[in-house]
Amino acid sequence: MSRILIIGAGGVGAVVTKNIAKYNNIFSNIMIASRSIAKCNAISNSIKNLYKDIKIEAAQVNADNTSELIELFRRFCPNLVINAALPYQDLAIMDACIACKVDYIDTANYEPKDEAKFEYKWQWDYKDKFESAGLTAILGCGFDPGVTNVFTAYASKHHFDKIYYLDIVDCNAGNHGKTFATNFNSEINIREITNKGKYWENGNWITTKPFEIHKILNYPNIGKKESYIINHEELESLVKHFPTLKRARFWMTFEQDYITHLRIIKNIGMSRIDPVLYNGIEIIPIQFLKAILPDPSQLGENYSGEISIGCRIRGLNKEGKEQTYYIYSNCKHQDAYKKMGVQAISYSTGIPASVVSILLTKNIWRKSGVFNVEEFDPDPFMKELPKHGLTWNELFNIDIEV
Ligand code: NDP
Repeated sequence: MSRILIIGAGGVGAVVTKNIAKYNNIFSNIMIASRSIAKCNAISNSIKNLYKDIKIEAAQVNADNTSELIELFRRFCPNLVINAALPYQDLAIMDACIACKVDYIDTANYEPKDEAKFEYKWQWDYKDKFESAGLTAILGCGFDPGVTNVFTAYASKHHFDKIYYLDIVDCNAGNHGKTFATNFNSEINIREITNKGKYWENGNWITTKPFEIHKILNYPNIGKKESYIINHEELESLVKHFPTLKRARFWMTFEQDYITHLRIIKNIGMSRIDPVLYNGIEIIPIQFLKAILPDPSQLGENYSGEISIGCRIRGLNKEGKEQTYYIYSNCKHQDAYKKMGVQAISYSTGIPASVVSILLTKNIWRKSGVFNVEEFDPDPFMKELPKHGLTWNELFNIDIEV
């Protein structure tokens, strides 16, 4: 029986905790720890009476501080830690995991607070430390990154001899009724999408202006949506692990009104990440903006519509013939709200992270070192995912539009 520590009590942390709590045959103790204890208590109190055979507790921690984390780990003695807080905390938590001999999972790769830049290098550099400690770290275990990486590995294992073209397509056709809100942590989200676009082609990274390349794509059960190339972290690991890729891109849908808001936020300096003096104190504009925007974990109640995320792939099939392939998953915001009290983005991120926790704890996905999810056998994950509420579909030899 395993003890699991979930760090971060936002939308994603809530889903991971609520899903893990159902598995008292695998986990004996759950701790949810975050900066604000009130949020941890709210999550733990909402499920304590439902799952009496598993001990659920809450704690306060500043996950930027490795010594504080080590103290908490020594007190709770987890076997596995999930970082469902922010990418800024990845390295501090990995350091504490090494110090206390604990396995590690996260949903977003490290980025420094003072530079809007993400890449895997910082975490891949921990490979030797995890390997020699006999520990497992699995990076990017949400939906994208996460399920999209597993979808690519599954396509490669079962349907392709060579994958040449990969287009990850992410559509949110939902309406939460707010003028402007982000679907996950707004600071991280706005840093990500106001940056330059980037994709892989013929061995090089090509950068574009923000929202420069776009086209209308058709999404299952949704229809046509304007989709934009943005830089997304899984491209970096996928081109490394699938070297036959000639091109890899990531498309996300945005409404025109959303882009106008983002442009204004950027133009007036509200997305700045450097300190600004205000009434004698230093504030960081994007952090102030986050404080006044709607909380993504609270958007679920009035959210209608659905999301559709998948991989469109072109290459040679196992017989060496040209093949197109589309694997995707749709999730309705209201279904996520009924099941877990959150919107579909938090749900579709937290569920895969809890599935990876189960596979790691059962030693089905275990090896020593630091890995991305596509480095494991995709089959157990693909089998498990629908049991937790996220179904997937495949289409062959259709017009994939990209
Ligand atoms: P939220 O902002 O809702 O939640 C983040 C939580 O982390 C909050 O409880 C916050 O505390 C806590 N936190 C922040 N800083 C610290 C700290 N220093 N110490 C302890 N706790 C801290 O974010 P989401 O739940 O929407 O997203 C969580 C993560 O999931 C993010 O890293 C995001 O990038 C990632 N993500 C990944 C996706 C994927 O598909 N792979 C998709 C969507 C999100 P407080 O409440 O006090 O601010």
